[in-house]
Amino acid sequence: MSDAALFDRTQLPRPNVSIEDAENILRDDYGLTGTISELGSQQDRNFRIDSDSGRYVLKICRIEYAAIELQAQNSAMKLLGANHDGPRVPLPVAALDGEEILSLTLTDGICQVRLLTFLDGETLTRIKHLAEPVVAALGTLCATLARDLQNFDHAGLERDLQWDLRRAGPVALHLLTTVTDQDLKDRVAKTMVAAIRRIRPLAEDLRVQAIHQDVTDDNVVSRPDIHGRWIPDGVIDFGDLLKGWLVADLAVTCASLLHHGNGDPFVILPAVRAYHTIMPLNESELKALWPLIVARAGVLVASSAQQGAIDPDNQYVADNAAHERKIFDVATSVPLALMELAILDSVGLAPEQPLQQLGRLLPDIAPDSIRLADLGVLNPNFGHDNWSDPDIDWKLLARAAGATKTASTRYGEYRLSYTKLHAAVAPATFALHVDVCLPAGTAAVAPFDGMLRRDGQHLVLIGDTISLHVDGLDCPLLDGAALEAGESLGQVGGSASTVGGLRLRLCRDSDLVPPLFVPPAQAAVWSVLCPSPSALLGIDVDATAPATTDLLQKRQNHFAHSQKHYYAAPPQIERGWQQHLFDITGRSYLDMVNNVTMVGHGHPRISAAVADQWSMLNTNSRFHYAAVADFSERLAALSPDGLDTVFLVNSGSEANDLALRLAWAATGAKTMLCLLEAYHGWTVASDAISTSIADNPNALETRPDWVRPVAAPNTYRGPFRGEDTTDDYVATVTAALDRIDREGEKLAGFICESVYGNAGGISLPDGYLQKIYQLVRARGGVCIADEVQVGYGRLGHHFWGFEQQGVVPDIVTIAKGMGNGHPLGAVITSRSIADALEQQGYFFSSSGGSPVSCVVGMEVLDIVRDEELQENARVVGDHLKARLEALKPNFPIVGALHGMGLYLGLEFVRDHQTLEPAREETAAICDRLLQLGVIMQPTGDHLNVLKIKPPLCLTLESADFFADMLTKVLAEGW
Ligand code: PMP
Repeated sequence: MSDAALFDRTQLPRPNVSIEDAENILRDDYGLTGTISELGSQQDRNFRIDSDSGRYVLKICRIEYAAIELQAQNSAMKLLGANHDGPRVPLPVAALDGEEILSLTLTDGICQVRLLTFLDGETLTRIKHLAEPVVAALGTLCATLARDLQNFDHAGLERDLQWDLRRAGPVALHLLTTVTDQDLKDRVAKTMVAAIRRIRPLAEDLRVQAIHQDVTDDNVVSRPDIHGRWIPDGVIDFGDLLKGWLVADLAVTCASLLHHGNGDPFVILPAVRAYHTIMPLNESELKALWPLIVARAGVLVASSAQQGAIDPDNQYVADNAAHERKIFDVATSVPLALMELAILDSVGLAPEQPLQQLGRLLPDIAPDSIRLADLGVLNPNFGHDNWSDPDIDWKLLARAAGATKTASTRYGEYRLSYTKLHAAVAPATFALHVDVCLPAGTAAVAPFDGMLRRDGQHLVLIGDTISLHVDGLDCPLLDGAALEAGESLGQVGGSASTVGGLRLRLCRDSDLVPPLFVPPAQAAVWSVLCPSPSALLGIDVDATAPATTDLLQKRQNHFAHSQKHYYAAPPQIERGWQQHLFDITGRSYLDMVNNVTMVGHGHPRISAAVADQWSMLNTNSRFHYAAVADFSERLAALSPDGLDTVFLVNSGSEANDLALRLAWAATGAKTMLCLLEAYHGWTVASDAISTSIADNPNALETRPDWVRPVAAPNTYRGPFRGEDTTDDYVATVTAALDRIDREGEKLAGFICESVYGNAGGISLPDGYLQKIYQLVRARGGVCIADEVQVGYGRLGHHFWGFEQQGVVPDIVTIAKGMGNGHPLGAVITSRSIADALEQQGYFFSSSGGSPVSCVVGMEVLDIVRDEELQENARVVGDHLKARLEALKPNFPIVGALHGMGLYLGLEFVRDHQTLEPAREETAAICDRLLQLGVIMQPTGDHLNVLKIKPPLCLTLESADFFADMLTKVLAEGW
């Protein structure tokens, strides 16, 4: 077909067919009746019919599409449908007269009509975030189809179609003639020219075969996997089937991904990798892929602009226009050269690119006089947020210059100063350049032969294989000057005896002005394109690359495996500040999980207090020093009347272990009541009363006989549900007590968290503890409140969790937040219970209550008071709770919201009736939140509750960021 005929086809609007027409055809020609609805299409008419004999799609197209082309599509579907291991595809259904393609005269004249089986499942178009496995599945689908069509041939494959990327250039330029937006027109035209220029020399090596050419987010059908991710496993719409470039098929698929990646063009890479595993592409095909994606984006934008003009009522076209614009914007947001490298790199075929010989730029500067400034995350000179000073890097560079007056920043360093808080996308922290601080007037010479290009003060020396970008030189040369290596480029700007600055970047692509910083995910590829300028300075200025994966391996090798880490691929967290954590690449995360770090990370008052006390004294509590007396007095003062005696230990486990020993000593009995789904610690005794199967899958079968777990009073999913269930839960305790009586055992006591933290911050039903404490005490037992997680002001409305239940325990255990991460725990009880232990010998903990620990403990209490952190937990917690509450009506996965203050639990379920826990979904949601810059983890026996327990210094802004990111995940997918 000539270009003219092809262009005529691009002008075709959809044929005029009403629902009634479709109804008539289905009844008269196929003997089908049912519910009919119209589906979208750019140039055809598609109707779905739900009939008694099944679901079908009626497809009606103009006569301009030759019957032979439709026959080819039908044959391809039948071929693919016969392969039961391949993707699901629709199949043609014969009309009553036995024909699979009918020619019928409709309003607009003769049209061609087909009926196909309908494929169940969701398309991916409206799922904004496609997780890596989904993207990979799309690549696999595209490759499988191409593989199965490899030997398919049919006369109807030789088609002239505007979507054939072999003709993308003329097609786009033709389509643009009707576009009125001049700006867009220019952009598309320029983009097409650049893309086609890159494709042309590769064209010879691009294999041609039958391709579907439309395996897009819109044309695949998917079903949810166990994580609730929509995995595509079926393909519809064979309307663009033709013989074309194999790699163009993948380009179409990849282009459709570009509006799903939050603007990140690298979103396509898992699809490319997956495709290449099944259908290995040759080097030219891999190199042509990105320009083809760009060309496809250009054709899409031009086509929807044109189609909108000729068929203004086509809602399908209008809806797609925004997506297509986004695809185009992302496709044109990165240099072609970068994506070529990224694609080659993703399949392990990035070429080795040795750097040409470079001379020194500054011959008068002795390389060993150049000091290097450390601007990375680990630099100990960073602290207390000084990295957010906009001049900090210059100050540290100037400081490094010190004696020699010459210093350089490091190439390939992830700079902490470029971090961003509350960032959904990892910021550009990786330095592709170096800044050199050196005496003004220092001479600079061309390090290689080249031609000078000037853009104001910005100089680019363009060599054969490399370009040097320099800022900061006084250069007398004119634009276009040719230089030989060693010839003068100019001198460092600034007046005599002052300090000047040079900014240097190398780039292999002379058309590119590379960015100064790039995001961590793009660092590896950019650094191939923009290699290190070390040779220019004569010293190694490269920062050491983070060894995150090696470190994880080292951890695997030497750290006991039962000590798990968060996340399958954890970020390397090396710094904290307030409610934020920073990984080694300078990416920040909002820490919504760290209840241990109660007053926030890196608190200057704590580090100062610890440093002072360490340099003064640290010893054990058998010595007499002020801190242990002062701290014990303060803890007693914070406790209810009667609880006036304190033991200091190092952890929650120790505190609970000791609490059990106190109960045993005070009562002379052993049997303990505890709750199911609880965690109290790892020591032998505290582990014995820990029944959480999330922490220990064998917990329920392996408790010793002195441990009597009772039903967790979980009013959401426990055996009794709703507010008025206190008596039902109390009855379970009475039954347990009766059994203990019957067995002739004596009760030592009862232990539980005052708010059920381990189950997800669930409040106990009203009056529960009052009744239980009464029953326990009536049998001579003591009542222990484990306040390790929920006490100390975290609940906002109460300092102690037990206040919420209106009870006073006999023994209180605390740890975690009381030391803000320093090993510190305490048991607070009455003098008489404490004395009972003394009958059994002395109690001593070598570092429990050490001067340093006591000082930390007091400093934490002072900070909680001075920064009004309990009040903050109330205000910010109430705000956050209201925001999370608002998710319930919008997202069916949200089952319940538990807790108060800054101890909240958001519980996810698959079904509101059965309360089937959405365990895998919760894990996937946490993984997605990490990508968006939020640390969050699941809790509860079913691991389906988000445990929301951030440092108490959480701000309203941070709470909103968390709520926004969570809303985004629930709305866009995970
Ligand atoms: N009690 C509760 C309620 C806890 O959550 C924990 C720790 N998760 C502990 C006790 C044990 O504390 P530690 O890890 O400090 O030993």
